[in-house]
Amino acid sequence: MNVDGLWLDGGPRAGSGAPLTLIEPFSGEELATVSQGTVADLDEAITAAARAFRDSGWRYMAPLRRADVLRGCALRLRERREEIGLLEARNVGRPLRECETNVDLAADAFDWFAGLTTHVRGSSIPLGPGLLDYTIREPLGVCGVITPWNNPIVLSSWKVAAGLAAGNALVVKPASLTPLSILRIAELLSAAGLPDGQMNVVAGPGASLGDHLIGHRAVAKLSFTGSTATGKHVMRKAADRLARVSLELGGKSPSIVFADAPLEQALAGSIPAMFTNAGQMCTARSRILVHEDIADEFAARLAERVSALRLGSPLDPDTDVGPVISRGQMDSICGFLERALDAGATIAAGGGVPRLAPELAGGFFVVPTVLSDVADDMEAVREEIFGPVLVVDRFTDERDAIARSNGSPYGLAATIWTRDLGRAHRVASALEAGTITVNTTKVSHVYAPFGGVKESGIGRELGVEGLDEYLQVKNVIVAVDG
Ligand code: NAD
Repeated sequence: MNVDGLWLDGGPRAGSGAPLTLIEPFSGEELATVSQGTVADLDEAITAAARAFRDSGWRYMAPLRRADVLRGCALRLRERREEIGLLEARNVGRPLRECETNVDLAADAFDWFAGLTTHVRGSSIPLGPGLLDYTIREPLGVCGVITPWNNPIVLSSWKVAAGLAAGNALVVKPASLTPLSILRIAELLSAAGLPDGQMNVVAGPGASLGDHLIGHRAVAKLSFTGSTATGKHVMRKAADRLARVSLELGGKSPSIVFADAPLEQALAGSIPAMFTNAGQMCTARSRILVHEDIADEFAARLAERVSALRLGSPLDPDTDVGPVISRGQMDSICGFLERALDAGATIAAGGGVPRLAPELAGGFFVVPTVLSDVADDMEAVREEIFGPVLVVDRFTDERDAIARSNGSPYGLAATIWTRDLGRAHRVASALEAGTITVNTTKVSHVYAPFGGVKESGIGRELGVEGLDEYLQVKNVIVAVDG
């Protein structure tokens, strides 16, 4: 399959750069060849976006008409759920049922922000006699969107839906390994009536294209999701010209299991909270702290469940865990595991690359793994591994659990398991994370804000707050006397 790497000014176009062959993570075989964009292509996309922002009328359109286009995209996504879900499953390696659900979640984001178009309102401020003061919340202009490979359709839809709902024009630079679904979304938005140039996609490498997008004077804001290291680079570079940034970055999110926890729920919830998408999730609760009174029992039961997870093809409905995205990612995870064992950790379940059945032999698989006998200063406890590796440790009391959770430089999410209502709220208040869940694990809902604190990021996606990231306030002062 040959794929045009650009969506430029309302239509597909081959990129002028070197073609990139995408490898299917499950089979290790070729999936598609993408004609990647160059810096010159990106310049064209930025120019098209700037022109659309100025001339297309999108930003001044009646909010309900802008909503029609976003809802039209949601509708088309739902109609093509199976086809786009399959494309994503083959590109990312993630189980098909999760990818189909992600198409629904992407559609939900377009529906949610369609509804918010009618809520972009200013205020009037009394300044005294003879003066009328009012504020206008207006779009920023051209926004650069940079996304990672782990959940391409959902993470890009959050940004694209919010940015367009607010009236901006967009240039999207997807992760080079996973450009397919966002190119389809561009096509669906066009079919739904989005003016040409309002949303452009340039597939290609981060170092050249990403850097150019950040540095470009016509780009008013960068909305970035990716690793903390790249996020810091984006912020430093954007600072040179004071471009706005919102950053959704990495995490090492804890799950705290108190002695009075609903144990069955905690065990069942901890599995998807960690092993969905083979652990390649920014919000993976990858560190479980269990109260010492129940730590041995919990760890043993958890290891049993993790050992029972089925590795397999993303297209097999019985698969629990698919491959990781690439050989490079597989090697990186295995490196973390080796260093953890060298540092004294032990394997309670799984460990390393599986002995694979012949039909899986070409894929990039890592066995779902639980590490125990860990210490807070170990790399496996501090760093985001971004693979199916869970560390389990014990704590003594509430204060210990809070202090050790907050010892992380990250602060994306945290989960608390307890039946004590007072403790749940107390600990939720004390934990340093953007989202806390109590006795449940799902961290993102379109209606509610999502994002990190500390080195997990700046800004919020989704909720009403997600729209604010793409708006600025203008104040107008009018002399009304004569
Ligand atoms: P990454 O930082 O390597 O890449 C992210 C994006 O940045 C890609 O599009 C890449 O091409 C681009 N990029 C690379 N170098 C660049 C540069 N110099 N300038 C501008 N752009 C550049 O991240 P990844 O490996 O694709 O994704 C995994 C990371 O993303 C993990 O750390 C994960 O936690 C994080 N993530 C965070 C969230 C969140 O919402 N907080 C969600 C998903 C993933």
